[in-house]
Amino acid sequence: MVGTAPWVNAQPQERTSAERAWQLSKESQAPFNFEFRLWQSNGDAVWILVSMQAQRNSAGVVTGYIGTANDVTQAVSKRVLSEQLIGLLDASHDAVLVFDRNGGLIFSNDFAQQLVGLSDTASLGDAAMQTFIQAIRDQLPREITTGTTSNRWQGEVGFRSADGIMRTLEVVLQIVRDAQGTIEHYSAIGRDITESKHLQDELQRQATHDALTGLPNRVLFLRKLAEALDRSRTLKRGVTVLFVDIDKLKDVNDTIGHSVGDQLIVNMSKRLVSATRPSDVVARIGGDEFVILCDGLGDEQVAMDVAGRIRAAMTGQQILQGFEIATSASIGVAMANAALLDEMSSADAAVTLLHHADSAMYRAKQRGRGRCEMYSEEMSTNARQRSALNAELERALATNQLFLVYQPVVSTHTGRVAGAETLLRWQHPDRGVLTPPVFLELAEESGLIGPIGDWVVRQACAVMRQWLDTDAIDGSFVMHINVSARQLSDSTFVERTLASLRDAKLEPHQIDLEITESTLLDDKGGVMRTLTALKRLGVKLAIDDFGTGFSSLVNLRNFPADYLKLDGTFIRDIGSQGGDDPIVRSVIQLAHSLNMSVVAEWVTSQDQAQRLRLLGCDFVQGNIIGEPVTADKFVPLAARVITR
Ligand code: GH3
Ligand code: MG
Repeated sequence: MVGTAPWVNAQPQERTSAERAWQLSKESQAPFNFEFRLWQSNGDAVWILVSMQAQRNSAGVVTGYIGTANDVTQAVSKRVLSEQLIGLLDASHDAVLVFDRNGGLIFSNDFAQQLVGLSDTASLGDAAMQTFIQAIRDQLPREITTGTTSNRWQGEVGFRSADGIMRTLEVVLQIVRDAQGTIEHYSAIGRDITESKHLQDELQRQATHDALTGLPNRVLFLRKLAEALDRSRTLKRGVTVLFVDIDKLKDVNDTIGHSVGDQLIVNMSKRLVSATRPSDVVARIGGDEFVILCDGLGDEQVAMDVAGRIRAAMTGQQILQGFEIATSASIGVAMANAALLDEMSSADAAVTLLHHADSAMYRAKQRGRGRCEMYSEEMSTNARQRSALNAELERALATNQLFLVYQPVVSTHTGRVAGAETLLRWQHPDRGVLTPPVFLELAEESGLIGPIGDWVVRQACAVMRQWLDTDAIDGSFVMHINVSARQLSDSTFVERTLASLRDAKLEPHQIDLEITESTLLDDKGGVMRTLTALKRLGVKLAIDDFGTGFSSLVNLRNFPADYLKLDGTFIRDIGSQGGDDPIVRSVIQLAHSLNMSVVAEWVTSQDQAQRLRLLGCDFVQGNIIGEPVTADKFVPLAARVITR
């Protein structure tokens, strides 16, 4: 190579660069270092590092150059690999950090710097980076830094990133040791899981909170209650649960609308929260049902005071979307006791306590709503019986244990049977024949009244068709059928009644639907709508039990009834001492003036029937005149003259 430059055999491009660098170095008198490749015949590259130094005489004039050429292939390929790796790390969406054995930062990739808010050129010693490193270090378990146990740690680390957001990094920390086991450095990879964690938190929140009010739901409430019960075992503190149910929310939905109902629920939830202590847990566990957990409350009197305060907060007038709504709530209170905790696990005790509070709330509803009741043992028995009875009733409907009996309605003008009132009976497998007072209220509550009521209408129509076909009755006969508010407030009732009539080939005027006076008084619109539609179609209507509901006579004028049924208590004394009740006389006159026929119920003697006829009463009904009988026994009755 004498007489040539060392890079004479390099690639043309590298040769040019080398020449330029050589030139520069000569001009600037700087030491010369240059790397270039030489290609071997087998195609491998050899990296050569040429280093040169100027030689000067005593006057400082350059007399020549002396230098070395080394094969640095190994070192270069290591460096290239490391550059490639860093490029790879910088492209990564994980933060990569390497610390020395003292915890000092040796390397951080682009993403780590972005997280901290540093530019590419920022130094490792930057304050923001130091804060970040410190935050991570503080959250690592102590064993890591002492380095005695494992070589790997994985966990979550929180920190505030440059944009001010609290972030969570999922970190994998690897401890690298030398052959003697001394820590050389730590490498850490951190993945930003802030968003997925938020998503996870949100899902978690949705699973444990109610969407409408944002309050905890049943799941979360039961968990908190179980935890409180657990604590109470050791701390010997009381735990009280309050069960709150808004009164008559359905009426708000029916008369004003569901959205106002929703708003009312939200308002009530806010009132609940402000009426309780911040440490109390308020949850919405059902439509209009809220529960409150008072941890540490073990005094019965205080518990009732708290309930009373909540009741007061929920009672009053609210104006929603321009409607003035009177609100109230019924509250049941149940308290944990030693027996409960001894008998079962905290989770089971929580469920039981909730049941108890529910039973107490139910009692508050029964006693007239807008009240607070403390749970007692007997309520549970009651509730158990109720739910057993309801199950039995459901079975009764499915297995034909229900049947109808028919009580003659006799015309005082002809003395003959002019119609029949259908009465529901239940052939209970163990308890014999049951009458409606035993089970109808329950059916109303559970909604079973819907299918039962439908069955009654259909059955009564079918029986009437049989009687007509066998000439047991004529076309003027009217079948009186009792219906409840709950049945009538179902908007499909009209349609289903018409279907029953159609299937039995009856005219609408051949049946009469009896509605109690109190049903009309309580109505919020739904019942009246149904009745008006039925009336328009020609179905007859009767006001039942008139005289028991303190109804205003004005209501009579507004309600398009065909019959007014005088309650038995009203006519009890008629005919007994020969005197007539002036009220009965006037009511009959009034009914007539409003084009209603009057039916007297519970008529107990022929004398009474006679007196009522003289007073102008149109029909009589009662056990002396004709007891309720099954369909086949009714047929001979229908042919007879009943009253004198
Ligand atoms: P009670 O005095 O017996 O409690 O009568 P209620 O009308 O409040 O009836 P109940 O408590 O038995 O049933 C709750 C009703 O609340 C049933 C449904 O009409 C209504 N409801 C349930 N959930 C919602 C809801 O999310 N929004 C609205 N607007 N109404 C609801
Ligand atoms: Mg309610």
